[in-house]
Amino acid sequence: MVALAANRLAEALKQPGCILCNHYNIAVIKYLDHFIYMSVNEPKRREEFVESLGFCPRHIHLMAKIETENYGEALGTTILYEHLSREIIKQIKDWKPTTRQSAALRNWLDTISNCLGLKRKVTRNTSETCRVCEIGEDAVYYAIPTFLNEYTRNPEEWQTGYKASDGLCLFHLRMIMDDFAVDYPEAARLLHEDALSRLEYRIPIMKSYITKHSYDKTDPLTQEERQTWKQTLTFFTGFSPETFIPFGDRKD
Ligand SMILES: [Zn+2]
Ligand SMILES: [Zn+2]
Repeated sequence: MVALAANRLAEALKQPGCILCNHYNIAVIKYLDHFIYMSVNEPKRREEFVESLGFCPRHIHLMAKIETENYGEALGTTILYEHLSREIIKQIKDWKPTTRQSAALRNWLDTISNCLGLKRKVTRNTSETCRVCEIGEDAVYYAIPTFLNEYTRNPEEWQTGYKASDGLCLFHLRMIMDDFAVDYPEAARLLHEDALSRLEYRIPIMKSYITKHSYDKTDPLTQEERQTWKQTLTFFTGFSPETFIPFGDRKD
């Protein structure tokens, strides 16, 4: 089980972007593919889906993409969202336009509901309420100890591999620092140091990139200057640098 997890992480490390974001994406894609294939017509799963008002926008989009790419149709997605549409119709049917007075009353009722831990029914699902987000986040949380173990136990492979990767994103670095540093102090320290040195290394390159965009400068950008801001955004988002390629490149 641990070996399987380590293999999966080793795969994720070879991809562009943050290893744990990659692991999250793999878990999410696997879950959605399985969900479309196995759970759409499974009454219990469907009931849970409808009860939770579906997935967050990002995962709705991803589910439709996976289904149309893998199966050529959006049948499962349509089945789910047809059902959910009916549920939503029931919930919003009795809606009345808000007056100033009723808005105040609603805010007051919302405050009470929140205090009592009751969820308002019709909201857009966010990452806090989306089942797919939860699956991905759980997968990452359980994978972190394996990653940190391997990182210090097998430095030749893991630390070298990590150096060649885009590094952890800020979110996952913070997760490791906040929740795992007590149990894995050495790995956490090394990853923290690595993040700092990457950030510090990139500062002058980004400064040079900025300077070269001054109206009176004509020096061409180096390859590194073209790449560095993308790597910085990778740190802040977890998205691979390539996802930033379509925009922002100055033609020299
Ligand atoms: Zn990440
Ligand atoms: Zn989600």
